[in-house]
Amino acid sequence: MTAPAVRGFSPVPSSPSLASAAVGIDVVVVCAEASTALYREPLQPTRRIAVTTSPDTALQLMKRADCGLVVVDGDVGEMGTTVCRGARQIVPPPMVLVTLSSPEAAPAVLDVCDSILMKPFAANLLAGRVGRLLRLRERAHAVRHDGHRAGIERKPSVDAADGRPAGTLVERTDGQCPQCGRQHVVMFDYASIRRAWYACKGCSSVWLARRIEC
Ligand SMILES: [Zn+2]
Repeated sequence: MTAPAVRGFSPVPSSPSLASAAVGIDVVVVCAEASTALYREPLQPTRRIAVTTSPDTALQLMKRADCGLVVVDGDVGEMGTTVCRGARQIVPPPMVLVTLSSPEAAPAVLDVCDSILMKPFAANLLAGRVGRLLRLRERAHAVRHDGHRAGIERKPSVDAADGRPAGTLVERTDGQCPQCGRQHVVMFDYASIRRAWYACKGCSSVWLARRIEC
């Protein structure tokens, strides 16, 4: 796999110095060396990011820095799931965004991430998703600190199940899995203006269906 040609991008080492982590990092990205430009180019102008190819470094950065979000490139394979699980152990946990080349890989990460972005994605789509997830996390903390008053204004921002900030995965009990008939499906990413990707946690089926705005 070769790095995509990005105007103005010159290859740099994938791991930032850990010294910069002490200053503050909003977003940690875990990806293959060849994919670093895919994340740096859209995020670096507006976010303090650290890009690494090492799951261990990612976990260290998530704990040390004021990290609100980790982006895990699904192409790193099983290591990515390890980072997702590690993020869940941190208090308070950073939001977890997973990027995937294959929709069939989505069911395996549904329970350990807050958002899935299918590749290939436009730069502004990644930047927009990252911004949205960071805002959702901030609002969730505001709800916790301000109590019910803020909770009424910002109702959808906290996942009722465990108090974590809600991400962009949409659990639906009015849908139905075309394979096993289960009436609990997850809309995990938009595929176009009208269609979205759905997954079944029961049988791990993935399919396209009508997109529902929420
Ligand atoms: Zn199913």
